[in-house]
Amino acid sequence: MIEDLVTGLSVPTDLWIGGQWRPAADGGRFDVLDPATARPIASVANGTVEDALACVDAADAAAAGWAATPPRQRGEILRRAFELMIEREDEIAELMVRENGKARADALGELRYAAEFFRWFSEEAVRITGEVRTAPAGTNQIMVIRQPIGISFLITPWNFPAAMATRKMGPALAAGCTVLLKPASETPLTALVIADILREAGVPDGVVNVLPSRRSGAVADAVLSDPRVRKLSFTGSTEVGRTLLRTASEQVISCSMELGGNAPLLVLEDADLDVAVEGALLAKMRNAGEACTAANRMYVHRSVADEFTRRLGERMGALSVGPGVDDAAVGPLVNQSSLDKVDELVQDAISEGATVVVGAARGEGDGYFYTPTVLSGVSPTSRILDEEIFGPVAPVVVFDTDEEAVRLANRTEYGLVAYVFTGDLARGLRISEALEAGMVGLNRGVVSDPAAPFGGVKQSGIGREGGHEGLLEYTESKYIAVQW
Ligand code: NAP
Repeated sequence: MIEDLVTGLSVPTDLWIGGQWRPAADGGRFDVLDPATARPIASVANGTVEDALACVDAADAAAAGWAATPPRQRGEILRRAFELMIEREDEIAELMVRENGKARADALGELRYAAEFFRWFSEEAVRITGEVRTAPAGTNQIMVIRQPIGISFLITPWNFPAAMATRKMGPALAAGCTVLLKPASETPLTALVIADILREAGVPDGVVNVLPSRRSGAVADAVLSDPRVRKLSFTGSTEVGRTLLRTASEQVISCSMELGGNAPLLVLEDADLDVAVEGALLAKMRNAGEACTAANRMYVHRSVADEFTRRLGERMGALSVGPGVDDAAVGPLVNQSSLDKVDELVQDAISEGATVVVGAARGEGDGYFYTPTVLSGVSPTSRILDEEIFGPVAPVVVFDTDEEAVRLANRTEYGLVAYVFTGDLARGLRISEALEAGMVGLNRGVVSDPAAPFGGVKQSGIGREGGHEGLLEYTESKYIAVQW
């Protein structure tokens, strides 16, 4: 079924299995809501376990043909998909605004970032290298080749409905793997549109299968129990990630996990405050704070804390809040429980002595709006510093020495990204080395780049996406001992 939700864009609402749009095996459907109005905008097929296994059958049937397709051809298909996404960027961004709630500028930014993964991996497809070296004993050659890892099960979250899908599908397809993508139930429409673009770009039937489903646990159990599936790439919460790692262990499936974050942002006393405030605004407010990379904790040197906090408060307070379709700078949060959680964390911090510089209130209307918020004097043991806020809230904590800042920054089970602002590059690099994070933004509020290895340490995940590393996650090394 195709719905006409956005002018000029066909939005499929069924399952994409083996090159066909199909209803769910039991005919079930679920609603997708617009977070700005809390009203349904579409009804999508609710994939069953039977449908999930049909996806694996289709991916299996297509696997040998796709692995044997010349890398140049795989790359050209991805390149075409990049072009199609860019040609339709306004329409797809509009769809993302409708189903996710994000501001139009955020949607367009994400769409372009998402398309870049197809372009980057179209170029990487022809750069899958191996290695030949002489055995130390001199008896033979050690030859290492890289082959597609096999059927890949991709699970994505709602906060970046396009980019998380292309960041996985791009490298998987470039490497020669067939895939089953299960998008988040809040935002399945963008993934279905991308599947349709890949079809139009020339991806053969069965190579890409997309299964919206509200039965994520049962579907994941069934797919990960199928020995034909060799890869799991998951982006989502650490809690669900842990469960999936346990399930994947049964068939010893290779896992790439992009999990939660709790990013610290350090402002040293020698930082250029214009750069630091701009960087903090970007790191905090991209996607209204609903990003794993969002600066969750601002640690600011005592000597500049008042000035930094005042300026950040002014900038955050000036942002317009409202529906993305009306071009507001900050859209609604994704659902009621996200809104309740953000407000609960803010009220908890206030009850522990934090001062409200700006915000700290729910927005108006039926949608899930929250006003951009800056809190100062936040107790270092507040819950808001331990949990992912996933909303437009910046808690500021004061520090006195670099050692104290690093200790506070590392005081978390997460380790995805950290931000440092300083006028002394050598000092910034020393601190970057000491931070327990997979990525550091040094005098920059954004780290995401398709050409860079994105990923976390500690309980933020395993593996990297993007860069050349992102491709290798979908390959398996084979060592051949050769004597010639
Ligand atoms: P989530 O609740 O973990 O859900 C993520 C995906 O997993 C969704 O597709 C969801 O499907 C599915 N899922 C939920 N329970 C499952 C289960 N038992 N078995 C299999 N799949 C299951 O996370 P979210 O709320 O969508 O996303 C926010 C989280 O993602 C945050 O923690 C954020 O930090 C993280 N994130 C990390 C990165 C990164 O690169 N490190 C990037 C973006 C987001 P349903 O929607 O159908 O429940």
